[in-house]
Amino acid sequence: MDARPTAQLTDDDWLRVFSEADALGISFILLAGGEPMLRKDVIQAAGKRQNILFPIFTNGTFLNEAYLELFDKCRNLVPIMSIEGGKENTDARRGRGIYELLIRNMEKLQARGLVFGASVTVTTQNIREVTSDAFLKELSGRGCKAVIYVEFVPVTEESRELAPGDAEREYLKAELKRMRQELPEMVYVSFPGDEKSSGGCVAAGRGFFHINSHGGAEPCPFSPYSDTNVRDTSLKEALNSGLFRALRENGHLLEDHAGGCVLNEKRELVESLLALSLHS
Ligand code: SF4
Repeated sequence: MDARPTAQLTDDDWLRVFSEADALGISFILLAGGEPMLRKDVIQAAGKRQNILFPIFTNGTFLNEAYLELFDKCRNLVPIMSIEGGKENTDARRGRGIYELLIRNMEKLQARGLVFGASVTVTTQNIREVTSDAFLKELSGRGCKAVIYVEFVPVTEESRELAPGDAEREYLKAELKRMRQELPEMVYVSFPGDEKSSGGCVAAGRGFFHINSHGGAEPCPFSPYSDTNVRDTSLKEALNSGLFRALRENGHLLEDHAGGCVLNEKRELVESLLALSLHS
């Protein structure tokens, strides 16, 4: 939900956002989509900001020679490819032939000595496979250096059964502990699972925030509400938007919740804070 839906940000808009981020000392910008590799000019602009590390969350289907050249030249661009387990689970969720394509991509990246990672959407269906030694050793053997686990967040009633519950979250937590000890050749990040150890929800500028493709500054991709557009304001002003301040200053980000995503669980509260901010 954007305060003022507008056209997509242009390449120049993104260039300005990256420059402002650099000036503010931001050192980590995650590019995600949709499919970020459809915006090659944006990625080229990111490559020029060598003070900032840009993990690029991609489905991998646009990784061609030109991109490999670019990644080789600009080592601050790190592709993170979506994979959902082995061939069966990956092709079922991402499309037929995608698993083989990802394996070929990994071979090309490894041949150039490029750092890359994998992003896994964790569901009740694939959780055992994507935490198994067989899966992780396969990735590691192909040169993968990081695995990012993202808990599936249901957007429809029908998909609710795929969302990890308490039992799965406990399982993932225990598996992450084991992996970090037994398979230390890769880095493991769990989102939002690791937030407990980093002091709660880090959205709304507490640790990061999200800019959607139209420029709306949102607390987090899992909380897509916005009262400010970076097309009209500086990044610094966006960080202090009414909605972000209301979330940060009233302790909402630290409140107890059933697990998973606190702001997703408190959607009604976020909507009321958004309305207040828009009408103040
Ligand atoms: S909004 Fe949800 S997913 Fe985003 S940082 Fe907060 S708890 Fe994590």
